Amino acid sequence: MIRSVVVVGGGTAGWMSANYLKAAFGDRLRVTVVESDRIPTIGVGEATFSTVRHFFEYLGLDERAWMPECGGSFKLGIRFQDWAAPGHHFYHPFERLRVVDGFPMADWWLHIGERDQGFDRQCFITPALCEARRSPRMLDGQLFVGDVDQSLGRSTLAEQRAQFPYAYHFDAARLALFLTRFGVERGVHHIRDDVLKVGQDERGWITHVTTGEHGDVAGDLFIDCTGFRGLLINQTLGETFQSFQDVLPNNRAVALQVPRDQERHGIDPYTTATAMPAGWIWTIPLFGRNGTGYVYSDEFCSPDEAEAALRGFAAPGREDLSANHIQMRIGRNERSWVNNCVAIGLSSGFVEPLESTGIFFIQHGIEQLVRHFPDRRWDPQRAAAYNERINHAIDGVKEFLVLHYRAALRDDSQYWKEAKVRPIPDGLRERLAMASSFLLDEETIYPHYHGFETYSWNTMLLGLGHEPSHPRPALALIDRTRAAEELARIRADAENSVSRLPSCYEYLASIN
Ligand SMILES: Cc1cc2nc3c(=O)[nH]c(=O)nc-3n(C[C@H](O)[C@H](O)[C@H](O)COP(=O)(O)OP(=O)(O)OC[C@H]3O[C@@H](n4cnc5c(N)ncnc54)[C@H](O)[C@@H]3O)c2cc1C
Repeated sequence: MIRSVVVVGGGTAGWMSANYLKAAFGDRLRVTVVESDRIPTIGVGEATFSTVRHFFEYLGLDERAWMPECGGSFKLGIRFQDWAAPGHHFYHPFERLRVVDGFPMADWWLHIGERDQGFDRQCFITPALCEARRSPRMLDGQLFVGDVDQSLGRSTLAEQRAQFPYAYHFDAARLALFLTRFGVERGVHHIRDDVLKVGQDERGWITHVTTGEHGDVAGDLFIDCTGFRGLLINQTLGETFQSFQDVLPNNRAVALQVPRDQERHGIDPYTTATAMPAGWIWTIPLFGRNGTGYVYSDEFCSPDEAEAALRGFAAPGREDLSANHIQMRIGRNERSWVNNCVAIGLSSGFVEPLESTGIFFIQHGIEQLVRHFPDRRWDPQRAAAYNERINHAIDGVKEFLVLHYRAALRDDSQYWKEAKVRPIPDGLRERLAMASSFLLDEETIYPHYHGFETYSWNTMLLGLGHEPSHPRPALALIDRTRAAEELARIRADAENSVSRLPSCYEYLASIN
């Protein structure tokens, strides 16, 4: 039996992993986090993916308890600004498409939708909530599920809402502090010290890490959460890192934390990704401030130029705010689990922050680790199965992100021009060719679990301007009445939700 796990690194990955293991195995597993006081965490990573709600639920954490402590706010989706053309925007929501007569609303929209009004606004409720800056919860904390449609015996809106309709934004540093306290209270051992050396046996398996002041810390299983350094997985075990820079060239970011008077300006319940001449800028509204950052490729823009562009965009006149320049390692390890070491977080892989998947990868990694947890037999099949799932998830997101750049209509700078001719993964090439004729389905998107569903692929394709040449011919042979009624119902559900839900600021102020 594995009795002791040592987590090296105390960023989001380290503390999410330690807490999850404690929640899964309780006192039967000793969990130690060794975290340097000297080496800072990456200091970004503040927008999440809707599955993150499972993580907090697994820990037994109510959102009213942790959100106020972490500057938490709601994220209903991502607003893509200026990706198709300057001034144009669309939303990629956490909301699945409704289905009528066997066809998702995206197909129906191509057939009978009003083309000048945008696919997202006609097929989802979320864009209306975003534009009206609504909270997904009522002031009493209930999710708003709409009025029950008696004729159907159910509420279509209730069905939508019963899924995971939102994710969160949070302050990364405050979340790490919160999870540190939460973990320590539940028995995680916490050592604040630098790991100076990693001890291995004759087979190359890790036996202990040597710290500056706390001596050797031994364990059965070691989790590498040391960020882009990959102290255990790469520097010690020598695992090969596969770069994705040939298809995803953004390799740097500069971030600024911008205070904001939200009582006056309100809070957007979404992340914004604004296309820029050499990349894109994120705007993440937390309760109390905005997190912003310019993600770019240094082939097309220098760090000084990026910082100047970000300051002009997000914080004009605020030269007092200090910028955090970050070099990104884009790609993944060939294997994230090697011998008795599992890399989770940036040490495992990272595919740039465009769809906020860094924390999703952490959660997926730790969930899969619990599912594939080893014993003293160290069955190699178990590690191989784990590695395959991790690789599929990261590779799927890679493809999905390359699609964002390839399908975007924008071509007004060298950066965007090259995005149209740069090599792309073969699978994506086939998918894009298919998507020129018909919208993708479950069989034609990336075939392994990677967090994104068919609706996301089609939302991005249609939002970015990559439309099939014509609607599905089958629809011309089906009575359109029910689909037209559903489009009207979506509009009514959206108006009803907007009129009943409080503003995001109002709700968050009430829990803070
Ligand atoms: C520009 C950018 C934007 C991002 N935006 C998002 C986003 O919006 N959403 C999202 O989900 N993800 C995002 N991510 C990813 C996200 O930031 C990370 O997945 C997350 O913060 C986890 O980082 P980490 O814990 O793996 O590494 P880090 O935060 O780098 O932590 C590393 C830890 O290891 C410790 N350490 C290192 N060496 C030693 C040593 N020798 N001894 C002891 N301790 C050591 C450090 O002290 C630190 O505690 C973004 C990443 C980047 C680069």
